Amino acid sequence: MNEAELLFTDILNCDRLSLYVNKDLSLDKISSSLVSAALKRRIKSEPIQYILGKAEFMGLQFKVTPDVLIPRPETEILVETAIKLVSGVRCQVSGVNILDLGTGSGCIAVSLAKFLPEAEIHATDISESALEIARANARLNRVDNSISFFQSDLLTAYSLELTAYDIIVSNPPYVPTQEIDTLQPEIQYEPRIALDGGEEGLDFYRRIIQDAPGYLKEGGFLIMEAGFGQKDAIKNVFQKSGFFKVIEWIKDYNNIDRVVVAKKER
Ligand code: GLN
Repeated sequence: MNEAELLFTDILNCDRLSLYVNKDLSLDKISSSLVSAALKRRIKSEPIQYILGKAEFMGLQFKVTPDVLIPRPETEILVETAIKLVSGVRCQVSGVNILDLGTGSGCIAVSLAKFLPEAEIHATDISESALEIARANARLNRVDNSISFFQSDLLTAYSLELTAYDIIVSNPPYVPTQEIDTLQPEIQYEPRIALDGGEEGLDFYRRIIQDAPGYLKEGGFLIMEAGFGQKDAIKNVFQKSGFFKVIEWIKDYNNIDRVVVAKKER
């Protein structure tokens, strides 16, 4: 749906088609004041998802607030990649373990739980307020039984009795610090800690690639979203680690290398 459709379906509490075919729909006084309040915020570049307090991802509804990054369509590629790996390679294995680092709104963990009902999922975030939203999203999508959330700065506060995961997924902050202020004004409403990947945008890849081997099964997969132009640098970090073989890069709809899949080899 485009933004106008998102706004009017929300305020009129109807579906997209009704906006066009239901001639009885009209804005009463309350609805029109809601529309103008929303437009006043949108004019100041506030993202429509924060104004409405919700976003769609993988066909599911998510609650979003400025405590969490707004789910992006590119990130659906990461989720689809993980789903394909689990259903292709490991179709016989029930109880696949997945860890999501920096879960934010929980969009990745919740979608995985929804589409892989047999999976056991753990998700971490450094931000307690993000975790609250993620937990709410797990309840909203009725998968709170299959996800456990933990507060942790990546794996540092992680003392789960040495769980070995089949898959670790992450959409880490990857925007180079100096670039953030140059990005579109909408981005400035999002939590900086969810965007800021350090000087080159690579800080979190370095940390994750260094720490993940200790938490992955042999033959397990690390799947991460990557930023524009970061492919070669990330490949290098993997090479230096010596624990992984990069097996695939997947491009997004703009032909940007967006998702990397690496396999733990020893
Ligand atoms: N994809 C986000 C953007 O458009 C960045 C998200 C991230 O850093 N993981 O800037």
